[in-house]
Amino acid sequence: MKPSFKLTNKGRGLIKCVNCHKIRIIYSESRLNSDERTKLSDIKQTIHFCCGDDLIPDDAEYDILREKKVCADKRRNCKSPVETLVYKLKKSLVCVACCGPVSEDISEKFKETKTKFSTVLPNCEDEKCLKFMFGIDKGPYKGWICKRPKKQSNKEIINEKKRRHEGAKQRMNQAKKRKKEYN
Ligand SMILES: [Zn+2]
Ligand SMILES: [Zn+2]
Repeated sequence: MKPSFKLTNKGRGLIKCVNCHKIRIIYSESRLNSDERTKLSDIKQTIHFCCGDDLIPDDAEYDILREKKVCADKRRNCKSPVETLVYKLKKSLVCVACCGPVSEDISEKFKETKTKFSTVLPNCEDEKCLKFMFGIDKGPYKGWICKRPKKQSNKEIINEKKRRHEGAKQRMNQAKKRKKEYN
C-alpha cells in the first residue's frame, strides 16, 4: 500500500530490516518535533522491523506519530533494492542489493560513474548481489542502477567549441607557415 502523501523530501530517518538487513526510509508528512523524534527512536529500538511491515505499533502512546503519518513505504519488500534516498540520508555508499559497504575500487568506479549519471546505486559485485539485481539493474554495469544520464553543461559545450576552434586555428596557421616555407 502506498503512503497517503507524496514522499519527495519527506524522508526523516532510516530503519534496518531484520530479515534482509537492508536500510529502509522512514517518512512523515510534516517534520517531527523532538518529542515525536524520541518516540520514533523508542520504536526503532524496540520493534523488529521487516520490509513491508507497519512501522508504528498499535499502542495509543504512538497516536501522535500516526497523526503525523510516520511510516515506511510498505510497497518495498525484501526483494526491493536500496533506494537512492538511503545514500543521501546515510551519507555513505552502500551496496544496492545487500546494503553492505563497498570496496575502494567500487567507490572509485562510483565516483567516475556519478560524473555521467545523476542517479547511481553501486553494487558490491558479490555474486549473490549481482544475482539479486538481475532484471532490476539499469545502465552500463551489471548489478548497478545508473539512471538519468547527465547532459553536458552549457559551459562545457562552450569550452569544447573553443578548444576545437583553437585547434582549427592552430592547424591553419601551421599550414600557412608550411606553405610560406615551401615558397
Ligand atoms: Zn527486508
Ligand atoms: Zn552487496
